[in-house]
Amino acid sequence: MAAELLKEETREEVPVAVIGGGIVGPVMAYILGEHGIRVHLYEARGKSLDGSQGRAINLSLSSRGMDALVRIGISEEVLKETTPFYGRCIHLPNSGGKTKLQYYSVKKEAVHSMNRRRLSELLLKKLEENPNVKIYYEHKLMNIEHQNNTLHFNVKRAGEEKESSYKISIKAKFIIGCDGFNSSVRKSVLGSILHYQQDILDEVYHELYLPPTQNGESALQHSDMFHIWPLGEVMLVGVPNKGNSFNIILFIPLSVSKSIKTPSDVLKFFKKYFPDLLEKIPNENQLIKDFFRKTPSRLNTIKCYPYHYGNILLLGDAAHSVLPFYGQGMNAGLEDCLIFEECLQEKDGDLETAAELFTDRRWKDLHTLADQSLHNFTTLRKGVNSNRFWINIKLESL
Ligand code: FAD
Repeated sequence: MAAELLKEETREEVPVAVIGGGIVGPVMAYILGEHGIRVHLYEARGKSLDGSQGRAINLSLSSRGMDALVRIGISEEVLKETTPFYGRCIHLPNSGGKTKLQYYSVKKEAVHSMNRRRLSELLLKKLEENPNVKIYYEHKLMNIEHQNNTLHFNVKRAGEEKESSYKISIKAKFIIGCDGFNSSVRKSVLGSILHYQQDILDEVYHELYLPPTQNGESALQHSDMFHIWPLGEVMLVGVPNKGNSFNIILFIPLSVSKSIKTPSDVLKFFKKYFPDLLEKIPNENQLIKDFFRKTPSRLNTIKCYPYHYGNILLLGDAAHSVLPFYGQGMNAGLEDCLIFEECLQEKDGDLETAAELFTDRRWKDLHTLADQSLHNFTTLRKGVNSNRFWINIKLESL
């Protein structure tokens, strides 16, 4: 059957609908469920969390985010799957492979690297234990009719030869948008947002990979550090994984990314700017494949105010998308859940007034985080607080 949409059903009204089962959605749904609130969580992807192209990048978890995981009783399970890193290892440009170490803390405190897809899986698994929460996969929110609190979804029909979908409509008393930076919930209230600012960075990123050596060791010295190759206009970072591999992220201006068109362009680029890393990559074809695997991703900053609109609340990236250079986007989203819980308790369980309080309590910190994340981009690119390592390479076309 060709892909088609059928009007199927209108389900019973749900007390709280959480949209998005990435990272923030499952944590918020779990906490509300523990307060005895019945929650339905709707996620566009399937249960196997497919739909994310390529390798899942890893995210650094810091104490802000960890507090939320402790709150829902999953921190130990998550920690077992993380890799700690204790600071930065800066690869000095044009130095023949010399590095400089900067520790995050004199007490050797660590930030923990965790695979994004796996974290999401663990959170959703934990959520299944909560009797007040129901999870619906393959439910993509299309729009919201505010006058009658109705959410319209496209639902993928499973088990058929050709992909098809049908429509359902659900009424919800309270709606929480945790559907990421491209949020459909936020789009549905865009006209009511008093302050909305979206900035798209000129730089894009490519996700690459550095495997361990043949005998299973780390290809980079200092496998317990976050690695940076700061070259001004281009920057490469390496985040350690379990098993001694690294996820490598290349940040380059869009124009440079577009000028790299062929496999030999990729190799020329790496030979010229990152020769020490190229030496460590055992299979150049894999590097080329990774480079072209998907369209390079853009980076956005979204600031808005307020986060609540009557019976609608935005949390996580739906409310505040920040650049990844401070490593705090997810951590701040997880912290949102704890702060909303605090507001809910202060407002005796009234969701709408708790949402108002949430905006008041949160917006200054989140706008500051967005500014700091941009500022840290400049700091990292410049060689981490030292002008000595700043070189203004001219990226002539390859
Ligand atoms: P998401 O993780 O985006 O989840 C949203 C979910 O909603 C998804 O599962 C999606 O499928 C679903 N969805 C979307 N639309 C719909 C719809 N219409 N209907 C139903 N479901 C829908 N943060 C850190 O703290 N540390 C880091 O080290 C870090 N590194 C990063 C590196 C990069 C390159 C990038 C881009 C970001 C990084 N971040 C980091 C930020 C972090 O990824 C986000 O802040 C975090 O994923 C936000 O979680 P979320 O649950 O709000 O949104």
